[in-house]
Amino acid sequence: MRLEGKKAFITGAAQGIGKAIALGMAKEGADIGVADVNIESAGKTADEIRALGVKSIAIRLDVSRQNEVSSAFEMFTKEFGALDILVNNAGITRDNVLLRMKEEDWDAVLSINLKGSFLCSKEAVKIMAKQRSGRIISISSVVAFMGNPGQVNYSASKAGLIGLTKTIAKEYASRGIRANAIAPGFIQTAMTDVLSEAVKEEMKKAIPLGQFGTPEDVTNAVIFLASREADYITGQVLHINGGMYM
Ligand code: NAP
Repeated sequence: MRLEGKKAFITGAAQGIGKAIALGMAKEGADIGVADVNIESAGKTADEIRALGVKSIAIRLDVSRQNEVSSAFEMFTKEFGALDILVNNAGITRDNVLLRMKEEDWDAVLSINLKGSFLCSKEAVKIMAKQRSGRIISISSVVAFMGNPGQVNYSASKAGLIGLTKTIAKEYASRGIRANAIAPGFIQTAMTDVLSEAVKEEMKKAIPLGQFGTPEDVTNAVIFLASREADYITGQVLHINGGMYM
């Protein structure tokens, strides 16, 4: 098992990609903190994870609130005694074209997707720097690189994550911390289920591999970056998009 005994804190892990990452890491032997605004679903995910034979706790957390982030990491370390892996996965969309984009929709997306990752990374680095080891993996998006009509807030937040990742990688490499990002393309989850079949068919035409990705495709990349196999990788972006962006 590639993550035997590791302690992982995953945000937005109650469902979708975050849940798949949590289950995938647990299968590799990691103990998991399932942090999510939706504590009921987070609790169910933690139950599923414990059934795999590792430890898991559900933590109610809105990543955009500094006080909640501090207490969540306190709760995690009290339970697990260490923090080896942080996955900044919690994210939302509030789509509209620039001229119709409301300031509150800009703020909501930037607060959760970008500021939330800043707050969680800061708490994680405090712990990891003392340990002189740790992995931070942030879930960006292909739209950070390509842009996407209707997602001026979302694509800006996901592009911001790349700068955050590279800077953490430079600032804390000497403390044994690796920071990397993953940029998924179109992945089948609740976030993308809302699109019409016609839109989905149109999008498939832009993907050389001709199909959407699954949460497990993203999970495989996260496990790789969290494992010893990625010891010499930091400050990088791994693209998981079926060739949609090269
Ligand atoms: P999802 O199914 O909507 O799951 C996101 C999870 O994050 C939900 O459980 C959500 O809870 C939770 N969450 C929302 N706001 C939060 C907050 N303030 N604090 C803590 N948790 C919060 O989304 P997904 O498709 O799995 O996406 C996961 C990540 O991958 C996101 O960062 C997304 O931007 C990124 N991504 C997704 C795709 C894709 O095609 N699906 C592509 C590229 C990147 P509620 O449901 O209760 O709000």
